[in-house]
Formats: sequence, structure tokens, C-alpha cells
Amino acid sequence: METLAILKYQLLNPFSMEILHVSAECYPVAKAGGLGDVVGALPKYLQDAGHDAKVVMPMYRTKFLLANEWDAVHKGATNLGDYFFDYTIIKEKTDKLGFGLYLVDINGLLDREKIYGYDDDAQRFTAFQIAVVDWLSSWEHRPDAVHVHDYHAGLIPFMMQYCYRYNHLASIPTVMTIHNAQYQGWMGWEKSTYLPPYDQWKTGMLEWQKAINPLASGIKCASKVTTVSNSYLEELKYMSNGLEALFEYEKGKCVGILNGIDADVWDPSKDKYIKDDFSIETVEEGKAKNKARLCETFGLDMHKPLFVFIGRLVGEKAADLLPAIVGDSFYYIGRRMNFLILGSGEPDIEGRLNGMNALSQNDYSCYIGYNEALSHLMYAGADFLLMPSRVEPCGLNQMYAMRYGTVPLVRNTGGLRDTVKDIGEKDGYGLVFSNAVVGDVCNAVWRACDLYNNKKQFDKARTYMMQLDFSWESSVQKYIDLYKSLQ
Ligand code: ADP
Repeated sequence: METLAILKYQLLNPFSMEILHVSAECYPVAKAGGLGDVVGALPKYLQDAGHDAKVVMPMYRTKFLLANEWDAVHKGATNLGDYFFDYTIIKEKTDKLGFGLYLVDINGLLDREKIYGYDDDAQRFTAFQIAVVDWLSSWEHRPDAVHVHDYHAGLIPFMMQYCYRYNHLASIPTVMTIHNAQYQGWMGWEKSTYLPPYDQWKTGMLEWQKAINPLASGIKCASKVTTVSNSYLEELKYMSNGLEALFEYEKGKCVGILNGIDADVWDPSKDKYIKDDFSIETVEEGKAKNKARLCETFGLDMHKPLFVFIGRLVGEKAADLLPAIVGDSFYYIGRRMNFLILGSGEPDIEGRLNGMNALSQNDYSCYIGYNEALSHLMYAGADFLLMPSRVEPCGLNQMYAMRYGTVPLVRNTGGLRDTVKDIGEKDGYGLVFSNAVVGDVCNAVWRACDLYNNKKQFDKARTYMMQLDFSWESSVQKYIDLYKSLQ
């Protein structure tokens, strides 16, 4: 049935390609950060461009799973070393996300509430990848490309080429996208027995610095590698958590393609998470209503500029600097602004941010946890978004913020460098600083307060940003060209 549908599709669209995306996250099924947003959007836009995009991901125990209906499309059995397991591939019945969504169910390993953070993550994601390749090898046709995302799917290109039982898949082109090179999935060599038997002469294709490194293996074995912005690709050659030499060596097959934003989900004029929608014409009153809601909820002062931070509370995002940024801004600039922080991550940072609630004079609050609805309200109601990131492969927050008329304060790095232009430059709109240090960020906060008081310039920056095009359309075309180049 499935095969018939594909044949019909290909007859009707002779130039269409079938692309299988493999990822640990996909919005709205399961999302921990930008990876989820991208894998939820890119296939949809590929589909709109006339291609057949599918996503396969682990079956976690999520609300989305329980709220939707599924068909079991494949059952198989394989092994992770000496652990033999059955797996089932289920497909969402109605393609409600705009593409075929497939989940891999492996009893006991994947069906958990959280995506990551378990002691047996190495087993979980290796078993997931083996099940995906095993399923793929049972297909009666071949997809035009397998597109793997981040280290959780990084062993797949290796398995397709060098595992004896799957090497009939070796001629299928593979693309690896690196959303974040900080996390590489390192495993000791004792875990090499997890993998299906492979050509021992190819051991080097798994290895980096004496360990099995799924991200490095993906970079070595994939036909093409993409990173989520051009500047990030350049930075990886001198700062990539140990993979610098590999990025330099493989630069010929690497290309930077900037992420887009999903205009259906992130549109202030029809955002299902906010009550007071607004457009460019109604931005002033629309934002004021959303700000009022935020200020009322969090006990903040509506009349002062509102700075927000939304993201993982980890060193990469320079979240450890937030307490000092808030403290020094209050001390040196004066209590002329509000700060509201949404995030979760390192317990130490969470504790320090929570502790600061006691010092608030109606100008500081934080919400520790993950809250999709609140994040939308914050993009809509804030005046400024803080992103002092030490590393930012692409960064979606700044693009969402700009779409919602919120001025971003960003460090000049990775995708932030490619998307935000300082207001001091011709046609500039954001505030850009050089270093992830408290002084630089406070200086930007001070500049932002000045901008807030210069209504004409502030309004101009706001409306200008809202019209910038960060849509997926042009990026999707770059992915399509890349897949075509591999056929
Ligand atoms: P990363 O993937 O490195 O975390 P990105 O900027 O690419 O960073 O994407 C972050 C995404 O995760 C955005 O959609 C942001 O709104 C969302 N996000 C991060 N933390 C939270 C949170 N605590 N609550 C709600 N959304 C969050």
C-alpha cells in the first residue's frame, strides 16, 4: 500500500525526491531546542516544494503520541550487541504535520517522558539508529537521500556503508546537518559491540581521539555535511570541542545553510499561544497588551523596558552570566529596566536565578522550566531579547524576536552574526557586542535603554525588523539543490 502510494506520487511528480530525515527531536512531537523546530519545519517546506519528506524519530511517551492515531507500518527484530529487541515503526495516520511522521518504538528503551538525560542514552540512541537502518533495509524502493541530524543519528551513514548486513544501502546519498557540535555522543570502544558487525578496516571512520564519536563519524561518512549558518561553519574550524582538524580536513563537503523560521507557528498575527495578536500596523498596542499580561503575571513594572532571556541555562548560552548581568545593570545603569528569564538547565544557574527573586523591586522574575506558551508570550511582549551566547550555531530566538518586534541584543558569533546588524550601522536594527562578558552585555543593555527612550528610532527598528525575511523558502531551495547534486 505504502509502496503503491510512493509510485503514484513519483509518477505524478517526476522530479520529486524522497528524503528521509532522522532526528531525536521534531516539533511539536518532542522538542528540547532549535533542532526540534528545524526538523518540524524543513520537511514541511520540502513537501510544499513538491518533494516527499518523511521524518523518523524515537517514540517517546509524549502528549502528541497519546493525542493522535497511529498505524503500525513495520515490525522488525534486531540486536544491540547481545541485547536482542523487537521494534515497531508507527506512522501518524493523517500526516497532520504536513509530512509523513514515523516513530520507532523500542520497548523499555525509547518510550520515556524525557528526550535526553538518561544514563543509558548511548544504548537508546544507538538502538534507535540500528532500528531505523534495519527498517530502511526492508524498503522495496530506495529513498533519494537520508538526512541525519546531529550526533543522535550520526552513526547511520557509517552503518549504511560498512555494516555487512546493511551495505546494500551504501549507494544511497546521506546528508548530515550539524545543529550543535558541542554534543558529540562519545562512547568508549567497549560499546563498539553495540554496532552490527562491520568491516574492521573501517574502524577509523567511527573514531575520533581514541573514542567512538558519532558526530565525527557522521562528518566522515556522510556524502555532504551542512551546518546551520555560514559563520558557524567558519568557527567550527577553530572552535568545535575537539573536532577542529576534522572540519578543516572535510571542508570540501561542508556547506552552511541558515535555518529559516516556521511562519505558520511563529506569526504574531495568528499565534495560537497569544491572546492579543498583532501585525506591523498594530505593533505598538499589540505588544503593549502582551507586555501588560507578562508584567501582571510576573509582578514587573509595565513602564520600564522589558529584557527577556529564553533558552537552555547552560554555558554555551552564557546563562551563567545572567545573575551578574542583572545585578550589574541594576547597580551601574540604575533600576530602569525589568528582566524576565525563562529557561532550564544547570542546577547551579537555576538556583542562582531563583535566588534573585528575593531582590526584585518589581523588576526581576524568572520561570525555571520549559514552557512553550510562555516563550511565545515573551517574544510578543518583551522589548528586548538577550542572547550573550558563547556558541550559537544559528539561533532561532533572535529571528522569532525580530518577527515579533522585539529588539535582539546579541553577541557577534555564529548565526547571530549572520542575522543581526547593529543599529549603529546603515540599515541596522539590533544591538551587537563582541564578547560574552558581563561588561559588554551591560553596555548593550545601557544602549538598549537609550534606544527605548528614543521612541522614533525604537519604532523604526521594530517595524524594520518585522519585515525582514527569515522564511524557510530560500534555505529550502539550498537543501533541494544539495540533494539534487547527490543524485
Ligand atoms: P538551542 O537549540 O541551542 O537550544 P535555538 O535558538 O536554536 O537554541 O532554539 C531554541 C528554541 O527552544 C527556541 O524555539 C526557544 O524558544 C526554545 N526554548 C528554549 N528554552 C525554552 C524554554 N525553557 N521554554 C520554552 N521554549 C524554550
